[in-house]
Parts: sequence; C-alpha cells; structure tokens
Amino acid sequence: MSEKRDRAVEIPGTDAEWREKLSPEQYEVLRQAGTERAFTGKYWDNKTDGTYRCAGCGEELFSSDTKYESHSGWPSFYQALAPDRVEESRDISHGMVRTEVKCARCGGHLGHLFDDGPNPTGLRYCINSAALDLDRAE
Ligand code: FE
Repeated sequence: MSEKRDRAVEIPGTDAEWREKLSPEQYEVLRQAGTERAFTGKYWDNKTDGTYRCAGCGEELFSSDTKYESHSGWPSFYQALAPDRVEESRDISHGMVRTEVKCARCGGHLGHLFDDGPNPTGLRYCINSAALDLDRAE
C-alpha cells in the first residue's frame, strides 16, 4: 500500500457516525444517494491538477488527468483511477435505468455512469462534487 493510500481514514461503522463525520450535503449524497443540483458543486468547473478522493473514506478515486468538460454541471471523468476503486450497479430509481457508481471502499454513493463520454473509453463518470475531495498535485 502506498504512502498516499495510507492516508485513507477509518470508515464509520454506524449511520450516526457517518452523520457526525460528514457535512449534511456530503451525507445526503454519499449515504442517501442524493444528487447535488447541476452547476452548484465545488468541482464541476475545477481545472486544478490532482487526485480526487472519496469524501467519505479518503480513497483515491479519480485523477484530474481524466476529467473533462461535459457541460453537465457535475464533475465528469472518462475513467476511474483504477477499476477496483469503484463499484458499478444497476439503478432503476426515479423511473430511469442507470448505472450507479459507488466507492468500492466505503460504499458511498458517488454518482452515475453513462456511455456518452469521450475517447478513449466513451464513458462518463458523472460524479457529485460533494462526494469528492481534491488533493492538489504538488
Ligand atoms: Fe469511500
């Protein structure tokens, strides 16, 4: 395990601990699968180089190298930092069939995956800013 990954923090065991650890906005997204309103989050238009971590557990999830301008109002990436960092599952809530994306480490809801992304993957990981914490590149 790299030094950076050691910075991942302990994962709360109970709902009460999650509520205590997270801001109301982070809790709503990560633990209740909420969606922040488009163009309101802190990262949709962010172009700073660095690594985006899970706001719940600190796991490194996405690199700014794969972030692109999707005009959706949410930070968008064409791939995860590694395939095992995220879990993808079928989501039929809200009358739509979508692929939900979760943090593989803490199970926090991150956003959804669509197939209208750019090359080289054609994928769009549409992620809530509230689920992310950017570690600026040094
Ligand atoms: Fe996490």
